[in-house]
Amino acid sequence: MIKSCYIHIPFCQSICSYCDFCKFYYNEKMVNEYLDALKKEIDTYYKGEQLETLYIGGGTPSVLNLDELTKLLKILKVFNKPSEYTIECNIENITEDKLKIFKKYGINRISIGIQTFNEKHLKYLNRHHTLKSALETIRLVKKYFTNINVDLMYALPNQTLDELNKDIDIFLSLDVPHISTYSLIIEPHTILYNHKEKNIDDELDYEMYKLICNRLSNYEHYETSNFGIIKSKHNLTYWKNLEYYGFGMGASGYVDSIRYDNTRSLNEYLNGNYRKEEIYQTNKLKIENEFILGLRLIEGINIYNFKEKYNLDILDVKNVKELIMDKKLVLTNDNLYIDPKFWYLANDILINFINND
Ligand code: SF4
Repeated sequence: MIKSCYIHIPFCQSICSYCDFCKFYYNEKMVNEYLDALKKEIDTYYKGEQLETLYIGGGTPSVLNLDELTKLLKILKVFNKPSEYTIECNIENITEDKLKIFKKYGINRISIGIQTFNEKHLKYLNRHHTLKSALETIRLVKKYFTNINVDLMYALPNQTLDELNKDIDIFLSLDVPHISTYSLIIEPHTILYNHKEKNIDDELDYEMYKLICNRLSNYEHYETSNFGIIKSKHNLTYWKNLEYYGFGMGASGYVDSIRYDNTRSLNEYLNGNYRKEEIYQTNKLKIENEFILGLRLIEGINIYNFKEKYNLDILDVKNVKELIMDKKLVLTNDNLYIDPKFWYLANDILINFINND
């Protein structure tokens, strides 16, 4: 039974220099047409399950004006009060009126893209808030919401450990219950890539990761990059390899054993050609994802659930025994997980489970 849904709103006020997501410059006429198409897509595929989590991401959903947000949230009323209902926001377009509308329509979690509080790095990332506006806006959000996430990036070009430490100091002073951290990877087709910017060296990246883990010790470190006093139920759906709807341009979903990606072309989307690619998940693919996603969780994969789902002993999956012998994976009575000493090498460990014939 599907319990989660992701909605993609692809509009942004400006384009960040590291961004390779599906996004467009905000344009009023397009937003209206887009919301009509989104409603049609939902009407076509949603089968009426009672959802537990609904997540509006982007793009920048908060760039929509009050009327557009009201239209969007009325469309999403079809999902009937999910217990965790998140919207992503950027500092520069959060207003008190928008927060009131979010509250009125049942949103109970706000995820704020901060990335850094350092104004030199903010400029470089082409983000348009300042330290002052970030602090004021988060104070305002806290007036209305308690379940708040902040996204923080590290490994920024020329960033020092000291600068990251200051970002964490500021984050801790905000007293919000969740943080998602991202090591910046310079992807092709981004402004940074075109400027020939390089990723920082692995050693510094590792030092930064260790610093984050040490400084956030009052939060539960429950996924390699996520720390929470209140965890994100929605993201747990992904990491537990459960099915979910994805609606909107460029959204991905996983329904009836099919993983799909929606088109990134606005014309195609407005014409009702939503799905671009569909891949049926054989048992082999499901097991691959179970490992790639589940081992990102600090508690790892529950071996009994695994056995029940796949009728297979987890030790019989290729490479598992070897990785346990190498002490990279740990097997307890209930779970299989990555040894904390190797979290920073998680991607190298996960590669062992791709195309694992
Ligand atoms: S706000 Fe998000 S989606 Fe928009 S350009 Fe920046 S990173 Fe990309």
